[in-house]
Amino acid sequence: MNSNFDQHSERAKELRALLNKANHSYYVLDAPEIADAVYDQLYRELIEIENTHPALITDDSPSQRLGGIPSKGFKNIDHTIPLLSLDNAFNVNELASWYTKVSKLISSENKTIKEVDNPELICELKIDGNAISLRYENGILTKAATRGDGKTGEDITTNIRTISTIPLRLLLENPPSWIEIRGEAFMPNKIFNKLNFERKNTDQTLFANPRNSCAGTLRQLDSKIVASRKLDFFAYSLYFPANWEPIDDNFKKPSSQSESLELLKNIGFKVNTTYATTKNLNEAISYYKYWEIKKNSLDYATDGIVVKIDKFDIQSILGATNKAPRWAIAVKYPAEEKATKLRKLIFQIGRSGAVTPVAEFESIDLAGTSVNRATLHNAKRIASLDLHYEDTIVVKKAGEIIPEVIRVIKEFRPVDAKLVQLPQNCPECNSKLIQEPNEAITKCINTECPAKLKGLLRHWVSKGAMNIDGLGEKIINQLVNEGYLKSISDLYKLEINCLVALERFGEKSANNLLTEINESKNKNWNKQLYGLGIPHIGEANAKSLSKNFRSIEELSTIALETPENISNIYGFGNEMKDAIITWFEDPNNQKLIKELKAIGFSLEENLNSNYNSNQSDILHGKVFALTGTLDSLTREEARELIENAGGKVSSSISKKTNFLLTGEKAGSKLKKAQELGVKIINENELKLLL
Ligand code: NAD
Repeated sequence: MNSNFDQHSERAKELRALLNKANHSYYVLDAPEIADAVYDQLYRELIEIENTHPALITDDSPSQRLGGIPSKGFKNIDHTIPLLSLDNAFNVNELASWYTKVSKLISSENKTIKEVDNPELICELKIDGNAISLRYENGILTKAATRGDGKTGEDITTNIRTISTIPLRLLLENPPSWIEIRGEAFMPNKIFNKLNFERKNTDQTLFANPRNSCAGTLRQLDSKIVASRKLDFFAYSLYFPANWEPIDDNFKKPSSQSESLELLKNIGFKVNTTYATTKNLNEAISYYKYWEIKKNSLDYATDGIVVKIDKFDIQSILGATNKAPRWAIAVKYPAEEKATKLRKLIFQIGRSGAVTPVAEFESIDLAGTSVNRATLHNAKRIASLDLHYEDTIVVKKAGEIIPEVIRVIKEFRPVDAKLVQLPQNCPECNSKLIQEPNEAITKCINTECPAKLKGLLRHWVSKGAMNIDGLGEKIINQLVNEGYLKSISDLYKLEINCLVALERFGEKSANNLLTEINESKNKNWNKQLYGLGIPHIGEANAKSLSKNFRSIEELSTIALETPENISNIYGFGNEMKDAIITWFEDPNNQKLIKELKAIGFSLEENLNSNYNSNQSDILHGKVFALTGTLDSLTREEARELIENAGGKVSSSISKKTNFLLTGEKAGSKLKKAQELGVKIINENELKLLL
């Protein structure tokens, strides 16, 4: 056996154990331990290993079983027609591959069907509920069952009868001896939130999501409790005896999924009306993208769409595997949470000397972007995560943008893994690191520490300040290490030879960079002020200060002589005032001001600049939040427009937010805005406001 096989065998064993445990918590206890997206990712990893090494497939592998085991509290019902799951795609490329695969399969199997090369599709929302099978005998509901393992489900007839949108009798004068309906029972978000609120108040464990809450409710032994929880149901397919000839006007044997949905409506079922038939793959992709934004405005959970071949004759050519039909695929929306392997910890020293631990991990695609590092903030955070080297970590996008390590999966921890701890000495200058009593932050207090200068330079060239694009962290590090930069002002004295001497720097790129550096002298006063890196003075505060004090001299005089004028500015407290005083008291900073002035920085308001003439107070007092990708503006540009018009941009959404500016792929903020009644606008509407 080779070592690659052994490694895969070991990993498959780990994955099987974890996924089986997760299945038990999810299907039996209705209390998942890991997020669905993390489950899907690990499941996929197992499938890839099993596909590469079929010898590693074991009987207890979750890949060999569908769903859960029917619970003991209910009678079992054998499904006459298996109740299958769906295969998954995790992005539109995988959807396209599926479409190509099925198209080929159809044409190889049958040449007489016209549509073989471009089969019509039907797109439906994937309701994140529980698959249910309903059996009607002579038009009367007689049995209702959960999916269970696909062959045998639990008899939940009594509970299902409490769902008012499930007819007890079909709207058919002459029903066949039996009809089976398949669909999704679900708990509307409003009911789910209310239920969890009540459970919280009575100290009961909370349900993780509406799907598990619905599953838990359907398995209640007391149907009065089920009735009180007001579950709902969307029907999506039906089966009846093949030889039955309907005579009712409202029942014509369907030849496609779209006709089935119409029929289901006619005979008394609630059908999700968001479905759309699409002529080609591109239309299906548009449907997927459309609902990615819109889904947050629905009152039920959906985790993707289901794309099906519409025509039944084509479906029957494709058939099914023992887990899922080949003619349908669930396309899930990008996960905001994923598991990955911790590779390395870096301890960064910022411009204030504060140590920030940063986790570097195997690259993952998270909610549409690739990420491989996340800040861990401080030692306290590392301790609360109980982080060990070589851990498998779960990373989430906080506020939709910043990746954050939210937990570790301890089951995957190697036995000899070492606990992550902060170093005792500064990784850059080796002086002893200090932790102030009662402070979470650990600091390097060596004023000469080159890491602080590197931090300050990174800040100076950052987007919100001088925005010098070609000057990244690596180049700054090299320039400081080579002794070319000892302060910010040295940047403006750089010569082409120093740059060309650096690794991978050509003459052209060196010239471009020097031009960019030189042009940065014309940045607006607020940006210059922000770039100085005064503690607690972020972009918004720098803007407020720059509006109140028109030059660095004015601000310096106020800070050193009448600092109370600073605390009078709206939103400025003592902490900020003290930080400003301390900054101006430092002779090194006074020297920096002189140097910057000498090389041509105005460090004052330029009354002729576009920025100032464009400023208005039209959005004064208005608080905005942003979500999604805007059409023509970057988020940074939108923020600037809002702030220049006197508005404020907040990273989170609350009752105080006046507007949510949304773009494509809007995230959870959209839902929250709807719940709070915050006005939702798009980029064009913002421009109109301005
Ligand atoms: P699934 O959730 O990927 O989708 C299949 C189901 O979608 C079908 O059975 C059907 O019930 C439903 N569905 C919703 N709308 C539909 C529509 N319009 N048409 C057809 N079907 C529709 O697969 P699954 O087998 O039900 O569950 C497996 C999933 O459950 C995993 O992918 C994972 O996300 C989750 N899971 C999570 C954990 C955990 O620990 N978090 C554990 C086990 C399973």
